[in-house]
Amino acid sequence: MPGVPRDGFGREIDYLRISVTDHCNLRCVYCMPLTGLALAPTSRFLTAGEIETVARAAVAVGFRKFRLTGGEPTLRPDLLEIVERLGALPGVRDLAMTTNAVRLPELAGPLAAAGLRRVNVHVDSLDPERLARIMRWGTLDEIWRGIEAAEAAGLRPIKVNTVVARGYNEDDVVALAALTRERDWHVRFIETMPLGVREVAALARERLVPNAEVRARVEDALGPLTALAAHDPADEARNYRLAGARGVVGFISPVTEPYCGTCNRMRLTAEGRFHLCLLNDDELDVRRALRAGGGLEAVAAILLRAVRHKPTGHRLDLGLSTERREMYQLGG
Ligand code: SAM
Repeated sequence: MPGVPRDGFGREIDYLRISVTDHCNLRCVYCMPLTGLALAPTSRFLTAGEIETVARAAVAVGFRKFRLTGGEPTLRPDLLEIVERLGALPGVRDLAMTTNAVRLPELAGPLAAAGLRRVNVHVDSLDPERLARIMRWGTLDEIWRGIEAAEAAGLRPIKVNTVVARGYNEDDVVALAALTRERDWHVRFIETMPLGVREVAALARERLVPNAEVRARVEDALGPLTALAAHDPADEARNYRLAGARGVVGFISPVTEPYCGTCNRMRLTAEGRFHLCLLNDDELDVRRALRAGGGLEAVAAILLRAVRHKPTGHRLDLGLSTERREMYQLGG
Protein backbone atom coordinates (compact mmCIF):
# COMPACT_ATOMS: atom_id res chain seq x y z
CA MET A 1 0.00 0.00 0.00
CA PRO A 2 1.36 3.46 -0.83
CA GLY A 3 1.64 6.07 1.92
CA VAL A 4 -0.85 8.92 2.12
CA PRO A 5 0.15 11.78 -0.22
CA ARG A 6 1.08 15.10 1.37
CA ASP A 7 0.58 18.54 -0.08
CA GLY A 8 3.13 21.36 -0.11
CA PHE A 9 2.12 22.28 3.46
CA GLY A 10 2.55 18.79 4.91
CA ARG A 11 -1.18 18.04 5.07
CA GLU A 12 -2.10 14.42 4.39
CA ILE A 13 -4.58 14.37 1.54
CA ASP A 14 -6.44 11.05 1.41
CA TYR A 15 -10.07 11.98 0.89
CA LEU A 16 -11.63 12.42 -2.54
CA ARG A 17 -15.10 13.82 -3.03
CA ILE A 18 -16.54 12.84 -6.34
CA SER A 19 -19.39 14.84 -7.81
CA VAL A 20 -21.31 12.52 -10.12
CA THR A 21 -23.69 15.16 -11.49
CA ASP A 22 -24.31 18.87 -11.12
CA HIS A 23 -28.08 18.46 -11.58
CA CYS A 24 -30.32 18.64 -8.54
CA ASN A 25 -33.98 17.97 -7.70
CA LEU A 26 -34.02 20.77 -5.10
CA ARG A 27 -33.26 24.48 -5.31
CA CYS A 28 -32.02 25.43 -1.84
CA VAL A 29 -31.91 29.22 -1.62
CA TYR A 30 -28.20 29.40 -0.67
CA CYS A 31 -27.16 26.93 -3.37
CA MET A 32 -29.00 27.26 -6.68
CA PRO A 33 -31.12 29.92 -8.35
CA LEU A 34 -34.65 28.97 -9.39
CA THR A 35 -34.10 30.04 -12.98
CA GLY A 36 -31.23 30.78 -15.33
CA LEU A 37 -29.06 27.90 -14.21
CA ALA A 38 -26.91 26.60 -17.07
CA LEU A 39 -26.29 22.97 -16.17
CA ALA A 40 -23.84 20.81 -18.09
CA PRO A 41 -25.24 18.17 -20.47
CA THR A 42 -24.80 14.70 -18.99
CA SER A 43 -22.50 13.70 -21.88
CA ARG A 44 -19.87 15.95 -20.33
CA PHE A 45 -19.92 14.00 -17.07
CA LEU A 46 -17.36 11.31 -16.44
CA THR A 47 -18.80 7.85 -17.13
CA ALA A 48 -18.98 5.17 -14.43
CA GLY A 49 -15.90 3.54 -15.97
CA GLU A 50 -13.98 6.82 -15.99
CA ILE A 51 -14.92 7.47 -12.36
CA GLU A 52 -13.62 4.01 -11.50
CA THR A 53 -10.32 4.76 -13.26
CA VAL A 54 -9.96 7.98 -11.26
CA ALA A 55 -10.74 6.13 -8.02
CA ARG A 56 -8.22 3.38 -8.88
CA ALA A 57 -5.59 6.03 -9.55
CA ALA A 58 -6.49 7.75 -6.28
CA VAL A 59 -6.11 4.51 -4.34
CA ALA A 60 -2.81 3.87 -6.11
CA VAL A 61 -1.40 7.17 -4.84
CA GLY A 62 -2.71 6.69 -1.28
CA PHE A 63 -6.29 8.00 -1.14
CA ARG A 64 -8.47 5.93 1.18
CA LYS A 65 -11.79 7.73 1.63
CA PHE A 66 -14.34 8.51 -1.02
CA ARG A 67 -17.61 10.40 -0.97
CA LEU A 68 -20.15 10.69 -3.76
CA THR A 69 -21.95 13.97 -4.03
CA GLY A 70 -23.36 16.43 -6.54
CA GLY A 71 -25.61 18.20 -7.41
CA GLU A 72 -27.80 15.40 -6.20
CA PRO A 73 -26.00 12.08 -6.69
CA THR A 74 -29.19 9.99 -6.64
CA LEU A 75 -30.24 11.63 -9.93
CA ARG A 76 -27.47 9.79 -11.70
CA PRO A 77 -29.10 6.78 -13.46
CA ASP A 78 -25.98 4.59 -13.08
CA LEU A 79 -25.33 5.45 -9.43
CA LEU A 80 -25.60 1.81 -8.34
CA GLU A 81 -23.00 0.82 -10.91
CA ILE A 82 -20.67 3.58 -9.69
CA VAL A 83 -21.06 2.44 -6.08
CA GLU A 84 -20.48 -1.19 -7.05
CA ARG A 85 -17.33 -0.32 -8.96
CA LEU A 86 -15.88 1.83 -6.18
CA GLY A 87 -17.04 -0.45 -3.37
CA ALA A 88 -15.19 -3.36 -4.96
CA LEU A 89 -11.82 -1.57 -5.14
CA PRO A 90 -9.24 -2.92 -2.71
CA GLY A 91 -7.86 -0.03 -0.68
CA VAL A 92 -11.13 1.91 -0.41
CA ARG A 93 -11.62 2.22 3.35
CA ASP A 94 -14.72 4.39 3.33
CA LEU A 95 -17.40 5.00 0.72
CA ALA A 96 -20.09 7.49 1.71
CA MET A 97 -22.59 9.76 -0.06
CA THR A 98 -24.06 13.20 0.58
CA THR A 99 -27.70 13.43 -0.51
CA ASN A 100 -30.94 15.27 0.06
CA ALA A 101 -32.54 11.85 0.73
CA VAL A 102 -35.56 12.44 -1.53
CA ARG A 103 -34.80 9.33 -3.60
CA LEU A 104 -33.55 7.16 -0.75
CA PRO A 105 -36.83 5.31 -0.11
CA GLU A 106 -36.26 3.33 -3.31
CA LEU A 107 -32.45 3.54 -3.40
CA ALA A 108 -31.16 3.09 0.16
CA GLY A 109 -31.41 -0.73 0.18
CA PRO A 110 -29.84 -1.25 -3.27
CA LEU A 111 -27.09 1.29 -2.48
CA ALA A 112 -26.20 -0.49 0.76
CA ALA A 113 -26.16 -3.83 -1.08
CA ALA A 114 -23.89 -2.29 -3.74
CA GLY A 115 -21.32 -1.30 -1.12
CA LEU A 116 -22.24 2.17 0.14
CA ARG A 117 -21.41 2.50 3.85
CA ARG A 118 -22.92 5.77 5.04
CA VAL A 119 -24.96 8.79 4.02
CA ASN A 120 -25.04 12.42 5.04
CA VAL A 121 -28.54 13.72 4.52
CA HIS A 122 -29.49 17.29 4.14
CA VAL A 123 -32.47 18.74 6.01
CA ASP A 124 -32.75 22.38 6.98
CA SER A 125 -35.92 22.37 9.08
CA LEU A 126 -38.39 20.04 10.75
CA ASP A 127 -41.21 22.44 9.96
CA PRO A 128 -42.78 21.54 6.57
CA GLU A 129 -43.49 25.14 5.58
CA ARG A 130 -40.12 26.53 6.56
CA LEU A 131 -38.39 23.60 4.89
CA ALA A 132 -40.30 24.28 1.66
CA ARG A 133 -39.28 27.94 1.81
CA ILE A 134 -35.56 27.22 2.13
CA MET A 135 -35.18 23.96 0.17
CA ARG A 136 -37.92 24.96 -2.28
CA TRP A 137 -38.69 21.82 -4.33
CA GLY A 138 -38.46 19.24 -1.53
CA THR A 139 -40.95 18.25 1.15
CA LEU A 140 -40.19 17.23 4.73
CA ASP A 141 -42.22 14.08 4.27
CA GLU A 142 -40.10 12.88 1.33
CA ILE A 143 -36.84 13.71 3.07
CA TRP A 144 -37.92 12.08 6.32
CA ARG A 145 -38.92 8.87 4.57
CA GLY A 146 -35.52 8.91 2.88
CA ILE A 147 -33.70 9.22 6.19
CA GLU A 148 -35.71 6.36 7.66
CA ALA A 149 -34.96 4.22 4.62
CA ALA A 150 -31.24 4.95 5.02
CA GLU A 151 -31.35 3.92 8.65
CA ALA A 152 -33.28 0.75 7.88
CA ALA A 153 -30.71 -0.12 5.19
CA GLY A 154 -27.89 0.21 7.75
CA LEU A 155 -26.30 3.32 6.19
CA ARG A 156 -25.08 4.52 9.56
CA PRO A 157 -24.30 6.63 11.43
CA ILE A 158 -26.81 8.99 9.88
CA LYS A 159 -25.32 12.46 9.63
CA VAL A 160 -27.81 15.27 9.14
CA ASN A 161 -26.51 18.42 7.46
CA THR A 162 -28.36 21.64 8.22
CA VAL A 163 -27.34 24.89 6.57
CA VAL A 164 -28.53 27.80 8.70
CA ALA A 165 -29.63 30.98 6.91
CA ARG A 166 -30.92 34.01 8.78
CA GLY A 167 -34.60 34.67 8.28
CA TYR A 168 -35.15 31.12 7.03
CA ASN A 169 -34.32 28.58 9.70
CA GLU A 170 -32.28 29.94 12.61
CA ASP A 171 -35.23 29.13 14.90
CA ASP A 172 -35.19 25.51 13.76
CA VAL A 173 -31.79 24.61 15.15
CA VAL A 174 -33.17 23.71 18.58
CA ALA A 175 -35.63 21.11 17.26
CA LEU A 176 -32.95 19.67 14.99
CA ALA A 177 -30.36 19.44 17.78
CA ALA A 178 -33.00 17.85 20.04
CA LEU A 179 -33.22 14.92 17.61
CA THR A 180 -29.90 13.73 19.00
CA ARG A 181 -31.47 13.08 22.41
CA GLU A 182 -33.39 10.07 21.14
CA ARG A 183 -31.38 9.07 18.07
CA ASP A 184 -27.73 8.25 17.54
CA TRP A 185 -27.55 10.71 14.64
CA HIS A 186 -24.98 13.43 14.10
CA VAL A 187 -26.79 16.72 13.49
CA ARG A 188 -24.32 19.21 12.03
CA PHE A 189 -24.92 22.89 11.50
CA ILE A 190 -23.14 24.44 8.52
CA GLU A 191 -22.46 28.13 7.96
CA THR A 192 -23.58 29.52 4.62
CA MET A 193 -20.70 30.01 2.23
CA PRO A 194 -20.86 32.55 -0.59
CA LEU A 195 -20.57 30.17 -3.53
CA GLY A 196 -22.35 29.68 -6.81
CA VAL A 197 -23.89 32.34 -9.03
CA ARG A 198 -23.77 35.95 -7.90
CA GLU A 199 -27.23 36.40 -6.37
CA VAL A 200 -27.02 33.07 -4.53
CA ALA A 201 -23.57 33.93 -3.18
CA ALA A 202 -24.90 37.32 -2.08
CA LEU A 203 -27.77 35.69 -0.21
CA ALA A 204 -25.37 33.30 1.54
CA ARG A 205 -23.18 36.23 2.58
CA GLU A 206 -26.07 38.33 3.87
CA ARG A 207 -27.82 35.48 5.68
CA LEU A 208 -24.80 34.04 7.48
CA VAL A 209 -25.59 32.91 11.02
CA PRO A 210 -22.28 32.37 12.83
CA ASN A 211 -22.16 28.97 14.49
CA ALA A 212 -21.37 30.63 17.83
CA GLU A 213 -24.93 31.95 17.70
CA VAL A 214 -26.37 28.59 16.68
CA ARG A 215 -24.57 26.96 19.58
CA ALA A 216 -25.87 29.58 22.02
CA ARG A 217 -29.42 29.02 20.78
CA VAL A 218 -29.08 25.26 21.27
CA GLU A 219 -27.55 25.59 24.74
CA ASP A 220 -30.08 28.19 25.91
CA ALA A 221 -32.94 25.86 25.02
CA LEU A 222 -31.51 22.39 25.64
CA GLY A 223 -28.70 22.81 28.16
CA PRO A 224 -24.91 22.67 27.90
CA LEU A 225 -23.07 20.91 25.11
CA THR A 226 -20.04 18.90 26.15
CA ALA A 227 -17.15 18.86 23.69
CA LEU A 228 -16.17 15.45 22.33
CA ALA A 229 -12.58 14.51 21.59
CA ALA A 230 -11.81 14.64 17.86
CA HIS A 231 -11.32 11.07 16.60
CA ASP A 232 -10.36 12.23 13.17
CA PRO A 233 -8.18 15.37 13.16
CA ALA A 234 -9.45 16.15 9.66
CA ASP A 235 -13.12 16.08 10.73
CA GLU A 236 -14.51 19.40 9.59
CA ALA A 237 -17.10 19.39 12.41
CA ARG A 238 -16.47 20.36 16.03
CA ASN A 239 -18.55 17.77 17.89
CA TYR A 240 -20.52 18.00 21.12
CA ARG A 241 -23.14 16.06 23.05
CA LEU A 242 -26.19 17.19 25.01
CA ALA A 243 -26.46 15.69 28.50
CA GLY A 244 -27.81 12.14 28.23
CA ALA A 245 -28.14 12.32 24.44
CA ARG A 246 -27.48 9.37 22.14
CA GLY A 247 -26.32 11.42 19.17
CA VAL A 248 -23.87 14.20 18.42
CA VAL A 249 -24.31 17.89 17.65
CA GLY A 250 -21.65 19.20 15.28
CA PHE A 251 -20.68 22.63 14.00
CA ILE A 252 -19.07 23.14 10.61
CA SER A 253 -17.85 26.73 10.50
CA PRO A 254 -15.96 27.39 7.28
CA VAL A 255 -16.57 31.15 7.49
CA THR A 256 -15.97 32.04 11.14
CA GLU A 257 -13.51 29.24 12.01
CA PRO A 258 -11.83 27.98 8.84
CA TYR A 259 -10.33 24.51 9.25
CA CYS A 260 -8.02 24.64 6.24
CA GLY A 261 -5.00 23.66 8.37
CA THR A 262 -6.35 20.13 8.73
CA CYS A 263 -8.08 19.87 5.36
CA ASN A 264 -7.50 16.44 3.79
CA ARG A 265 -9.84 16.77 0.83
CA MET A 266 -9.64 16.97 -2.88
CA ARG A 267 -12.66 17.14 -5.10
CA LEU A 268 -13.51 15.89 -8.55
CA THR A 269 -16.23 17.71 -10.46
CA ALA A 270 -18.83 15.80 -12.47
CA GLU A 271 -17.08 17.00 -15.62
CA GLY A 272 -13.80 15.52 -14.49
CA ARG A 273 -11.76 18.36 -13.07
CA PHE A 274 -9.86 18.14 -9.83
CA HIS A 275 -10.56 21.18 -7.71
CA LEU A 276 -7.75 21.83 -5.32
CA CYS A 277 -9.93 23.43 -2.68
CA LEU A 278 -13.67 23.59 -2.10
CA LEU A 279 -13.47 27.33 -2.17
CA ASN A 280 -10.87 27.90 -4.79
CA ASP A 281 -11.22 27.77 -8.54
CA ASP A 282 -7.83 26.22 -9.28
CA GLU A 283 -8.40 22.98 -11.10
CA LEU A 284 -6.79 20.29 -13.21
CA ASP A 285 -8.62 18.57 -16.06
CA VAL A 286 -8.64 14.79 -15.84
CA ARG A 287 -11.38 14.11 -18.40
CA ARG A 288 -9.25 15.50 -21.20
CA ALA A 289 -6.43 13.15 -20.20
CA LEU A 290 -8.79 10.16 -19.98
CA ARG A 291 -10.45 10.84 -23.33
CA ALA A 292 -7.08 11.34 -24.99
CA GLY A 293 -6.30 7.73 -24.10
CA GLY A 294 -4.50 8.37 -20.81
CA GLY A 295 -5.04 5.59 -18.28
CA LEU A 296 -4.47 5.08 -14.62
CA GLU A 297 -0.91 6.41 -14.65
CA ALA A 298 -1.85 9.65 -16.39
CA VAL A 299 -4.65 10.23 -13.87
CA ALA A 300 -2.38 9.40 -10.94
CA ALA A 301 0.16 11.95 -12.19
CA ILE A 302 -2.52 14.65 -12.43
CA LEU A 303 -3.81 13.78 -9.00
CA LEU A 304 -0.38 14.03 -7.43
CA ARG A 305 0.15 17.37 -9.18
CA ALA A 306 -3.19 18.52 -7.79
CA VAL A 307 -2.18 17.46 -4.26
CA ARG A 308 1.13 19.30 -4.54
CA HIS A 309 -0.60 22.49 -5.62
CA LYS A 310 -3.40 22.45 -3.06
CA PRO A 311 -3.57 25.99 -1.65
CA THR A 312 -3.15 26.70 2.07
CA GLY A 313 -6.71 27.87 2.50
CA HIS A 314 -9.58 30.05 1.46
CA ARG A 315 -10.11 33.53 2.94
CA LEU A 316 -13.83 33.61 3.54
CA ASP A 317 -13.07 35.07 6.95
CA LEU A 318 -11.80 38.16 5.10
CA GLY A 319 -15.02 38.40 3.13
CA LEU A 320 -13.51 36.82 0.01
CA SER A 321 -15.54 34.39 -2.03
CA THR A 322 -15.50 32.46 -5.23
CA GLU A 323 -18.58 33.16 -7.25
CA ARG A 324 -18.80 30.60 -9.96
CA ARG A 325 -21.19 28.27 -11.62
CA GLU A 326 -19.81 24.86 -10.72
CA MET A 327 -21.27 22.81 -7.95
CA TYR A 328 -19.26 21.97 -4.92
CA GLN A 329 -19.36 19.58 -2.06
CA LEU A 330 -19.07 19.75 1.65
CA GLY A 331 -20.75 18.49 4.73
CA GLY A 332 -18.72 15.29 4.76
N1 SAM B 1 -27.58 17.35 -3.04
C1 SAM B 1 -26.84 16.85 -1.93
C2 SAM B 1 -27.31 17.49 -0.64
O1 SAM B 1 -28.27 18.26 -0.67
O2 SAM B 1 -26.74 17.18 0.41
C3 SAM B 1 -25.34 16.93 -2.10
C4 SAM B 1 -24.75 18.21 -2.63
S1 SAM B 1 -24.96 19.63 -1.58
C5 SAM B 1 -24.13 20.86 -2.52
C6 SAM B 1 -23.88 19.24 -0.24
C7 SAM B 1 -24.08 20.05 1.00
O3 SAM B 1 -23.72 21.38 0.73
C8 SAM B 1 -25.49 20.08 1.56
O4 SAM B 1 -25.45 19.76 2.92
C9 SAM B 1 -25.89 21.51 1.36
O5 SAM B 1 -26.77 21.94 2.31
C10 SAM B 1 -24.57 22.22 1.46
N2 SAM B 1 -24.55 23.55 0.85
C11 SAM B 1 -25.03 23.91 -0.33
N3 SAM B 1 -24.83 25.22 -0.55
C12 SAM B 1 -24.19 25.72 0.53
C13 SAM B 1 -23.69 27.00 0.89
N4 SAM B 1 -23.82 28.05 0.09
N5 SAM B 1 -23.07 27.12 2.07
C14 SAM B 1 -22.92 26.06 2.89
N6 SAM B 1 -23.38 24.83 2.60
C15 SAM B 1 -23.99 24.65 1.43
